[in-house]
Amino acid sequence: MPPLQILDGHNDTLTRIFPPADDTSASIVDRDGDGHIDLVRARRGGLGAGFYAIFIPGGEVESRPITANDGTHLEAGCSDVVLRTQARPMTDSVLDRMDAMLEQHPDEIRLVRTVDELRYCLDHDVMALILHYEGVEMLEPSLTDLEADYARGLRSLGPVWSRSNAFAHGVPFAFPCTPDIGPGLTEAGTDLVRRCNDLGIMLDVSHLNYRGFMDLAETTTAPVVATHCGAHAVCASSRNLLDDQFDVIRDTGGIVGANFHVGFTRPDGQRDANTPLDVVADHLDYMVDRMGIEHVALGSDFDGATMPAPLGDCAGLPKLIDVLRGRGWSDEALRAMAVDNWLRVLDATWH
Ligand code: ZN
Repeated sequence: MPPLQILDGHNDTLTRIFPPADDTSASIVDRDGDGHIDLVRARRGGLGAGFYAIFIPGGEVESRPITANDGTHLEAGCSDVVLRTQARPMTDSVLDRMDAMLEQHPDEIRLVRTVDELRYCLDHDVMALILHYEGVEMLEPSLTDLEADYARGLRSLGPVWSRSNAFAHGVPFAFPCTPDIGPGLTEAGTDLVRRCNDLGIMLDVSHLNYRGFMDLAETTTAPVVATHCGAHAVCASSRNLLDDQFDVIRDTGGIVGANFHVGFTRPDGQRDANTPLDVVADHLDYMVDRMGIEHVALGSDFDGATMPAPLGDCAGLPKLIDVLRGRGWSDEALRAMAVDNWLRVLDATWH
């Protein structure tokens, strides 16, 4: 039996194979077992499509004192701002190398811009890439370059990574810690949400702080999506979502891709790969209980995080599916999580 086909909410594979800070290139098609995703392992694991992020690295994440909005003082992993003068040329360089790779392998991998193209790839065993920006430091705050990026294939963006920029404030890394740290969207951030709605670019609330999340949810006309987050009730990381955030996502018809990173899934918050897949399944079951199956998906964070050792890489996805089946998930529920929920959300978002 072929593996269950999966559309995955988030990976950092482009950032690995096309390092933004230099001009080296590898290829998804032939990666010799390096990292978490390549064509051979994707086919073995059923990874038919995914959101492929461009992420611009900044300085090291450093432990610094912060104050949460409830007045709690604590230490959190913080990151400096990244300037557009650095981020724009780095982004363009990744896009150029990505285009060159796609041109070399038109029958095997494709950048998809519409739901029809995505469905075609899923039906014809073509690996589908959805282009995502994880933090938009490359954009002018006046958004004069957003349309050009849309024309190059951009169909999804998260306003911030876990740092601040002209548009919003990302949540610093801390455990145990609330995501309610810092202020909401800036005026440019609100404009970004409206412009993405106009163009049909999906908005991702992963890495966004609590107030920014609520501002985005109030402004957007599209379903609210978290491409790679966990449940704060299961693992109290600042990167995970609170129950009232799940309720907002459900009420907008949105979706949460469950993150696999052990530091965001283990109840003790430890970055220990010796972690059973049941820990990921616990987040999925919690989200299904809170929101219903139609709002739950996968958001691996492949090539950007520490995977549970029993999963390994994308070839191990069927092992997670088996764990869920063992917990009583029906074929219909598995298909909803794996692909169908995403298609519904993208149908309602892209145009
Ligand atoms: Zn991320």
